Amino acid sequence: MYDHILHQMRDKIRANEYIVPDHPTRTGPESNLMICDYCGKDGAKLRYKTQVCGPKNDKFLVDKVPVVRCPHCHQTYMTAQTAKTLDQLVQQRRELARPQTLDVIEFA
Ligand SMILES: [Zn+2]
Repeated sequence: MYDHILHQMRDKIRANEYIVPDHPTRTGPESNLMICDYCGKDGAKLRYKTQVCGPKNDKFLVDKVPVVRCPHCHQTYMTAQTAKTLDQLVQQRRELARPQTLDVIEFA
């Protein structure tokens, strides 16, 4: 039963739909290490990545999105606060976006 729920969660995480509770815990002064929301172990790190947003024919990038990456369970996730902020930024796309050209290749 839990396997089923876990699989559903993984699918949603892959589709960037799953929002985790927003309580990453800093474990030391000047440290970006956190407690992982998935496995509960110490040592998850804050990283910044580029997120592709928008519909298939009107994609755009959001740069420097903070994500938490866990070296123990290899989970990568956004906190609920990050997801909320990302939603707001996406809504403000027209005001915030700086148009740039970008080379795109397809793997297959
Ligand atoms: Zn973990």
